Amino acid sequence: MPGELFEIEGERKKRVCYFFDSDVGGFHYGPGHPYVPSHQRRADDSALNRVFFFLAGVKDEAHQDPHVPFLGNELRLYKRMEIFRAKPATKREMTQFHSDDYIEFLSKITPSNMGNFVKEQHKCNVGDDCPVFDGLFDYCAISAGGSMEGAARLSRDKCDIAVNWAGGLHHAKKSEASGFCYVNDIVLGILELLRYHSRVLYIDIDVHHGDGVEEAFYVTDRVMTVSFHKYGEYFPGTGELRDVGMNKGKYYSLNFPLRDGINDENYKSVFEPVIQQVMESYDPAAVVLQCGTDSLAGDKLGCLNLSMRGHANCVRFVKSFHKPLLLLGGGGYTMRNVSRAWAYETGLATGVELGRDIPVNEYYEYFGPDYQLDVKASNTEDLNSPAYLERVKNIVMEHLRHVGGPPGIQMTDVPALPIDAQMEDLNEDEDMLDPDERRPQRMLDRRVQADGELSDSDDEGEATGSSSRGLKFGMGMGIMTAPAVSTHGAGPSGHMTIPPPSSLGGLDLDAGSPSNGNLSQPKAGGRRIPWLRRAQAR
Ligand SMILES: [Zn+2]
Repeated sequence: MPGELFEIEGERKKRVCYFFDSDVGGFHYGPGHPYVPSHQRRADDSALNRVFFFLAGVKDEAHQDPHVPFLGNELRLYKRMEIFRAKPATKREMTQFHSDDYIEFLSKITPSNMGNFVKEQHKCNVGDDCPVFDGLFDYCAISAGGSMEGAARLSRDKCDIAVNWAGGLHHAKKSEASGFCYVNDIVLGILELLRYHSRVLYIDIDVHHGDGVEEAFYVTDRVMTVSFHKYGEYFPGTGELRDVGMNKGKYYSLNFPLRDGINDENYKSVFEPVIQQVMESYDPAAVVLQCGTDSLAGDKLGCLNLSMRGHANCVRFVKSFHKPLLLLGGGGYTMRNVSRAWAYETGLATGVELGRDIPVNEYYEYFGPDYQLDVKASNTEDLNSPAYLERVKNIVMEHLRHVGGPPGIQMTDVPALPIDAQMEDLNEDEDMLDPDERRPQRMLDRRVQADGELSDSDDEGEATGSSSRGLKFGMGMGIMTAPAVSTHGAGPSGHMTIPPPSSLGGLDLDAGSPSNGNLSQPKAGGRRIPWLRRAQAR
């Protein structure tokens, strides 16, 4: 029977919170804009494939994640998780990693004023490979907000696993967009984790090298980055085996370069022992897993040959270490397969295996002709010979020997936050908005509820309606905004001394704060979506 869920035996129950925002699907195709304008098309339409993938959710405002449009209403997987619409990241929060100028530019540029920003576009690599589209900044803010809030909830022990498929944009640099990534939600999420955790492990299974994250943490041992990716005449061109980090971060960046066509068995034969050893040597306090699905067989841009189950095995394996886990999206350009993999992996996070058949849903036609969940490997040749993999694995393991046990970081000044002690001010953002600026629909939604114009009972009738007004927020819950905590002045560890070379665009985790010098308050909470409550009432 389609839509069945099977409990995985022996699984320890995890508290999962899931972030999504149906607005992600709405940025590119609005009414009257059935296509991205032709001048924004590129010869190689890869970015637009990605855009298209987000677009699939555009019709759906009814509590469904556009990335996985059948998780909620059809699979009822939402019942097993807490669902959140994150508060979008603010400019100030973004500048904890990104440069002020870059974020300012991103927040201003639109398709209609692009002509005024020619120089900036060139400097920030925006406009060509990374197109300008309506709502670009809102999209970045949602993506980053989800990862930051997921991290914040993990840090405060409000959940065991946080999922944000709109995140994972690993190529974005401090002052530059790259590979359809503008704001690096991963770096921002890790910075949030570093407020409370001494060591964070970042694992990247996207087909592309996780260059933006690696670069950000290249000179620190407080974050270890491990990327498995295609290497050799392939975007972004970095991620060599010998790139292992610098200064204090030496051997805390690991790269596993792959050839075309790696299959499940071979991937597993290197992924599991390497991660096992990383866990033993580094003993991270929290883990971030970027689950880019362009490493799946049949991806439009990818060249590896993982099946859905091979890809998901990485999630299963990482989860088995029972560390606070932030699961993020990333690349993925064969839309139907992205949805398949992330649906299955969401299931694994909650301790269930999804049945073979995809439930009938609004996008059912995309999943033909077999309408099954599995993404199968092809019969393409695996150019990664066992000898090659063994050799690379041994070198990576050799690098890991230098890690030599967890760094002796003491968390001396972790602030105790009175979690949930008080409600957030629902209108705090609104008060700061210029009334002449266009207000995002989300603000209007929120205001509707704050004004009491709609009550919950009013909403019951439109629970599956298409209006974004149907998507209301629960009470402000979860993470309160803490006061700027002065004890953070020395950084969570307060024991780091070597400043990174600024030319790398890396973060100075030693000079006072885990940030770009723009320390802001801990990420505040968004709104819980009352989908769960309604679904259970039905
Ligand atoms: Zn990718």
